[in-house]
Amino acid sequence: MEEEVHGIVIVGGGICGLATALALHRKGIPSLVLEKSETLRAAGGSIGVHANGWRVLEQLGIAAELRKTADVVTEFHDVWQQEQGNKSAVVPVRGELRWLKRKDLIETMAKNIPAGAIRFGCHIAEIHPANPDNHGAVLTTLDGSIIRAKALIGCDGSNSVVARYLGLSPPRSASRMLLRGFTRYPQGHPFGPHFLRLRCKGFFVGRSPMTDHLVSFFVAFWHPGAGATKDARAMKAFVLERLKLQCCSDEVVEMVRGLDPESLIVLTRVWYRQPWQVMSSSFRRGTATVAGDAMHVMGPYIGQGGSAALEDAVVLARSLSRVAGGGGRELRQERIGAAMGAYVRERRLRVVRLSLESFAMGTMLATKSLLMKLACFAVVTLLGTNSLGHTNYDCGRL
Ligand SMILES: Cc1cc2nc3c(=O)[nH]c(=O)nc-3n(C[C@H](O)[C@H](O)[C@H](O)COP(=O)(O)OP(=O)(O)OC[C@H]3O[C@@H](n4cnc5c(N)ncnc54)[C@H](O)[C@@H]3O)c2cc1C
Repeated sequence: MEEEVHGIVIVGGGICGLATALALHRKGIPSLVLEKSETLRAAGGSIGVHANGWRVLEQLGIAAELRKTADVVTEFHDVWQQEQGNKSAVVPVRGELRWLKRKDLIETMAKNIPAGAIRFGCHIAEIHPANPDNHGAVLTTLDGSIIRAKALIGCDGSNSVVARYLGLSPPRSASRMLLRGFTRYPQGHPFGPHFLRLRCKGFFVGRSPMTDHLVSFFVAFWHPGAGATKDARAMKAFVLERLKLQCCSDEVVEMVRGLDPESLIVLTRVWYRQPWQVMSSSFRRGTATVAGDAMHVMGPYIGQGGSAALEDAVVLARSLSRVAGGGGRELRQERIGAAMGAYVRERRLRVVRLSLESFAMGTMLATKSLLMKLACFAVVTLLGTNSLGHTNYDCGRL
C-alpha cells in the first residue's frame, strides 16, 4: 500500500486541533489535521470563554468576529434554594466572559485554515515509532492507510490514541449526569447579563445568556442509576419531572421545557486526569506530543478545558516556530523534539493548577466526607478559584 509522508500531523479536529493548525498557519508553518468525523464536529452546545481564552482568540486573529456572536456576562448570581428560604450572592465576573456556540468557534477557526489542511473521515487506529529514536511516527488509519509524520500532535480528546502512544495511562471517569442545551426566547429573555448558578436539592443548574434571545444552560445531577439512559429526550423528561418535584423555580423549569431539541446533549460520565498524573506524566515521545483534553482533560467544574486547549495551541505553535527555518516552512526533525519539550515545560504548571482546581471543585461537590470537603475548600480558597484567579493568565503572544 502507498504511504503518504507529511511534516506536522495533528490528530483530531476539535477545538484544540483546529486552534493548533490555525496558530501554526499564522506562523507560516503548514500542518495536516486528521479528523475521524466525516464533517466538522460543530454540534454540541456552548463553551464559556473567560479572559484568558479571549487573549488567545486575539492572538489567533478571530476574537473580533466571535465577539459579534455572543454578549458579555458581567455577574454570577449564586442561589441556594433551601427549605428554610433561598440564600443568594452576587459575584462580579473578572475580565471578559462570553458564552460562545461551539459551532461558531469551530467554524470560524476552520474557515481561517487553508483549504485541504483538514482531512475528514480519517480515523487513526494505531501509531508506531518511525525509528528507534522516536523521531517521527507511523500512523495507521482504520481502513489500513499509512501516514508518516515528521511531527505528531495529539489533539484527539480524552480517549486519545496519541496519549496511548506516549504511554499515558487512561483518564478516569466519574459517574455524573449532565443535560445541556439552548433555549430561544423570541421576545427576548429577562435574565440580563448574569450567569445563574442555582443549587436545588441534588441539582446544580447553570444558565448563561448568549444573546438577547438565546440562553445556554446545563443541569447537573446525581447519576440516577438504573433510571439513566442515553436517550436524550427521555432524560429531558426525567429532569423536568424531578425539577418540578424539587420545586425549582418556574423560570428554570420553563427554560428546560423549551430547549431547542437540536441542541440537547446528555452526558453520563465526566472524564478527568488527576492533577498528580498531569504533574508527573511525560507528555512527549521523540517528536510526538499531546494538547487539549488529550493532555489534561478535566471535569467541567471551572469551565477552563476549552480555553486551556486554546492556550496549548498558542504555546506549542510559538515553540515550534522558534526552531523553524526557511520562513517557518522547514522544520528540522532533531529540533522539533526540543521545541516540544519546551512546550511541555511551559505548560506543565499551568495545566496542573487548572486540573487541581477542577478536581477540588468536583470532589467538594461529590464527597460526603466533611474532612475531604474542608481540604478541597482550602485548595480552592488558596488558589482563588471562586474569584476566578485562573482567568488572569496570559499565555503570551503567538
Ligand atoms: C459538560 C461540559 C461543559 C464544558 N464547558 C466548558 C466551558 O464552559 N468552557 C471551557 O473552556 N471548556 C468547557 N468544557 C471543556 C471543553 O469542551 C473541552 O476541554 C474541549 O472541547 C477540548 O477540546 P479538544 O479539541 O482537546 O478535544 P475534543 O473536543 O474532544 O476534540 C477531539 C477531536 O478528535 C477527534 N478524534 C478523536 N480520536 C480520533 C482519532 N483516533 N482519529 C482522528 N480523530 C480523532 C474527535 O472526533 C474530535 O473531533 C466542557 C466540557 C464538558 C464535558
